[in-house]
Amino acid sequence: MSILEEIYIQLDKPKKKKEHFYVTDLGSCPRKVIMNFGDYKRKELTNAEKIMFFKANSDHKSMTYLLNKSKKYSVMETELVINDGLPKLWHGRLDVLIYDYKGSCMYPIDWKGTRSLRYQADLPKSAHKLQLRSYIMALRVLSYPVDIGKLTYVDRTGSYEGVEFEIEADDDEVLENMKFYEKCLTVYKGDSDNLLPQLLPPIIPREIKRTKDEFHLVPNWQCGYCHYQPSSCKPNMSKNKIASMVNGELSIRKDYTNYANKLYKMIEPKEYADTPNGFSKFINDVNKEK
Ligand code: SF4
Repeated sequence: MSILEEIYIQLDKPKKKKEHFYVTDLGSCPRKVIMNFGDYKRKELTNAEKIMFFKANSDHKSMTYLLNKSKKYSVMETELVINDGLPKLWHGRLDVLIYDYKGSCMYPIDWKGTRSLRYQADLPKSAHKLQLRSYIMALRVLSYPVDIGKLTYVDRTGSYEGVEFEIEADDDEVLENMKFYEKCLTVYKGDSDNLLPQLLPPIIPREIKRTKDEFHLVPNWQCGYCHYQPSSCKPNMSKNKIASMVNGELSIRKDYTNYANKLYKMIEPKEYADTPNGFSKFINDVNKEK
């Protein structure tokens, strides 16, 4: 047996049936999160993917190792299991809790590795903010004096410098989202614990992507990475052009005028945005063209 084959065997984890939510589920496709409680067919990870996930985890450990050498900060906890500070159905494990000597305060850090930091406009991701906020909430429940946390993104390709964001606490947002997932699970399990597929949350919709002057409906990025696609869940993975900018004006294709609302938010056309009730006028005009 080769060395690599032996490593792949070590990376194989026995599958356990899911019994609780993880903090990292927050912000993920609700259908996928609930399917993890059932027995749905999923794509197996390739050996290359298993190595990539393992490496991502060790990258986090390396960052913590370097931080531990700092004289400005003290690493208080690493990989801290904080199930007790979270609502009953939730489990979580925080990457690092540090003490900042200069600011005389402590805060949690969540490392996030990305495939490329080239496009930073959508950072910090709302799902990541929610996850870190749930750690802040849990730490406070456990009597740690914590008000903010740091989301730290590192580029796994080695092409871009990392970025970090300070995230404030928002317990209401966290609890509201946790309740949403819990409700989805209650509906899915029904009264009889029968695990009915028809009670799963709906497939998440495609997203609108703008490329220069064209707008396309593209598969939701989460579906592209989902291990249930296409065996147990079959979202629409096609790409359709739905609108374009012509001489500075938005032109929506006939069959896609129901996306006018979302398109409006993406471009906020000046001629409408500058007039009273501009949004309603825009929608009326689009519907007239139907
Ligand atoms: S394929 Fe898409 S909609 Fe279906 S479970 Fe996965 S992420 Fe959710």
